[in-house]
Amino acid sequence: MGSLLEGKKILVMGVANKRSIAWGCASQLKKQGATVIYTYQNERMKKSIKKLVDNEDLLIECDVATDESMDKAFSEIKERFGKLDGIVHAIAFANKEELDGDIQNTSRDGYAMAQNISSYSLLAVARYGKEILNDPASIVTLTYFGSERAIPNYNVMGVAKAALEANVRYLARDMGQYGVRVNAISAGAVKTLAVTGVKDHSTLLSESESRTVDGNSVTTDEIGGACAFLMSDLATGVVGDTIYVDKGVHLI
Ligand code: NAD
Repeated sequence: MGSLLEGKKILVMGVANKRSIAWGCASQLKKQGATVIYTYQNERMKKSIKKLVDNEDLLIECDVATDESMDKAFSEIKERFGKLDGIVHAIAFANKEELDGDIQNTSRDGYAMAQNISSYSLLAVARYGKEILNDPASIVTLTYFGSERAIPNYNVMGVAKAALEANVRYLARDMGQYGVRVNAISAGAVKTLAVTGVKDHSTLLSESESRTVDGNSVTTDEIGGACAFLMSDLATGVVGDTIYVDKGVHLI
């Protein structure tokens, strides 16, 4: 237990189950004294998140695919919780068939879908968030090394992550005037529901683990620790950055 985030209210978007990076973030935020509010994608996800969070008042539905759902969710958050001190955006999606084989076979719709959910949604979150975030506040998103290197089968998601990281820089510039810092964590590969959508993900996971400095993959708690730092006032000088939390995989 610590008190780094005592008195702060933080919205965590993207918990699917206990393996989710968002859950690692939420756990560390709570350990540092924050009150955590959660959004879930749909009824199926609600069932799953209810196993982890027993206070249903802290759960709000938000499908980032539509402005209608986001509008409703953020109005509800404002009504129930008032102002927030931070938002964790841990959301991504691409159709399974786009995460397999050669990237030139990506469909127009599949490309647009990956961009919409995995990259554009951060802009929408910042736009809605601006109305309910305190000054100072912090937004953190989750990215992956596939934005910089051509990782087998990661394809359209790597392109979406490159766009997401660019969004972080532009947003950091434009949200700065409202006291909102925006950053990304580039997390090492961990076995979550999202990763299982990538063809041959077991090779991706084992290759990644073998490139860590100590032969052990990063954990969601370790990623959450960096998230807690970025949410805290210790990180007021960190703006528009992508911080690697991958046990050194990007070095090798
Ligand atoms: P996860 O499957 O646990 O979480 C993904 C979340 O995205 C789910 O909760 C899902 O409901 C949500 N989501 C998808 N479409 C949505 C929509 N339309 N509206 C609202 N929510 C939606 O997987 P994860 O690996 O914890 O993913 C979290 C983030 O971390 C993603 O951005 C992912 O790309 C990123 N990331 C993951 C890894 C990894 O190896 N697992 C590495 C680096 C970055």
